[in-house]
Parts: sequence; C-alpha cells; structure tokens
Amino acid sequence: MPTNSNADRVVLTIAGFDPSGGAGIIADIRALAAFGCRPAAAMTAMTFQNSAGVFGAIHQTAESLRSQILPVVKEFRIGAVKIGMLPTAELVLEVVRLLRETNMPAPVVDPVLRSSSGYELMEPAAREAWLSELMSLARLITPNIPEAETLAGMTIVNEHDMRKAANKLCEMGARSVLIKGGHLEERSGITGRSLVEAEPNRQAIDVLDDEGLFTVFRDEWIDAPPVRGTGCMLSSAIAACLCLGMDLQDSVGSAKRFVAGAIRKCD
Ligand code: PLP
Repeated sequence: MPTNSNADRVVLTIAGFDPSGGAGIIADIRALAAFGCRPAAAMTAMTFQNSAGVFGAIHQTAESLRSQILPVVKEFRIGAVKIGMLPTAELVLEVVRLLRETNMPAPVVDPVLRSSSGYELMEPAAREAWLSELMSLARLITPNIPEAETLAGMTIVNEHDMRKAANKLCEMGARSVLIKGGHLEERSGITGRSLVEAEPNRQAIDVLDDEGLFTVFRDEWIDAPPVRGTGCMLSSAIAACLCLGMDLQDSVGSAKRFVAGAIRKCD
C-alpha cells in the first residue's frame, strides 16, 4: 500500500554503499532526490573507501539482497530502477531472478567494474554473468570508455570506436548503450588518449545507441578536478527522468546537465 505522496515516483537503486558519500548509494540518492523522486535502496556491498581510494568491501548474499528488495517491491510501485555495483555472480544472478519475478521496470544498469583508483569492484565470474544474463534485461547500460573496452573486447580511442563499441554491445544483447566519453580526450581533427594539454575547443563526447538510433552528445569540457561518483549520479539521474516519463534521449540529456552542474560545483 503506498504510504508516501511521492509513491508514484519511487526509484530503486541496487548498488554498493560508499560511507564517504562520494559514490554508490549516497550519490544515487542525492541525484534521485534532486529530480524530485523518492529513493529506495538495496545494498549489494559495504565498501571501505574515501577520496584516496577503495580499501575493501564486504559483499551481500543473494538472500540478503532479496530480503531487502521484496518488501520494497511489495509496498511501492517502482517507477524506475538503477543498478550499480554487483561484485559477485551470485548477486548478478539474484538481480536477474528478481527482475524476472517482479514487475520492476527494465533498469538502467551501470557496469561498475573498478574504481577510478584501480580497485576491482566486480569479480570476473560476475562480469560473465552480467554480460550473459543481466545486460539484455536492461533498458540502458552506461559504460565509461574503460568499461566499454573491457565489455566489448576492443580498444576505444575516438568517437568512431565509441559508436563501434556501442554497436557491438547491442549485438551482444544490450537494448540501448550510452558510452560516456569522459575518459577520452578528443579535439577537433585530432583524437587520441595521450593528448594532455588543455585546449579551448576540447569536448566531452557521449554516444547513445538507443535500439539502433544514434545520438552523439557534445558538450564543453569542464576543466575541474575529478569528482567521484559521476557515473553513479548519471545513471541514477537517467532513471529518475525515465520515472518522470521522459523518453531515453531526453533523459540522458537532462541527466548529463545535472552531472555537469555537480562537476562545476565540485560537488
Ligand atoms: N564505490 C562504489 C560503491 C561505486 O558504485 C562506484 C562506482 O560506481 C565506485 C566506488 C567507483 O567510483 P569512482 O569511479 O568514482 O572511484
């Protein structure tokens, strides 16, 4: 029985907990609340980290994840789902079962493979299960460039490669793919990851393949120190917009503007 005035705007995040609040569930909740959605959260792992790095994690079991999600699904109509860190195959397969058993909408799935500091957040067996069982159930997957390279098994150095990788992930079963170009340094006429000097017309490029329809988002590069959790915020903001009834393209555009604002504020 819905008990909240935002009951028709409940977004469930299934993700890792970062006690320092930079990434994971806290970042998700901040993004969802900013869009006026009511966050619900199920924790897949308790991580130990701060802005210096990730120091470890304790993973939930399939049973504890199920026990968190079922009462929420029973009480609320879930308007959108965001899925982040899934460290083990056990948890990936449990999420797949829960998506099949309940009437949760197709989720926005962020493949959280490793932290920016290099800590592995997903076991190899979980990655296999993610690719073979979960990816095809997602409304959208949101890899960054290193994640897209690992998942698609190819090197990405420019926009053409981003399109190719998105296409390949669709051939592998994804319905829609957003490749985030934040890790790609691209300038007009010259592309390459080794280019480091600042340049005024440097752009941030994201490529969306929505069931075969390509959109390239080109935005001004924001010259700011790295902000943790931007991937978490973006996927949650997309889920929030989908919950509010926006189409996928507009949701991505709106979510990108939200994250750009957070980066500008170093939030
Ligand atoms: N910790 C958790 C729980 C996350 O979900 C993520 C990313 O999604 C990270 C850490 C990695 O964040 P960052 O790339 O900002 O290090």
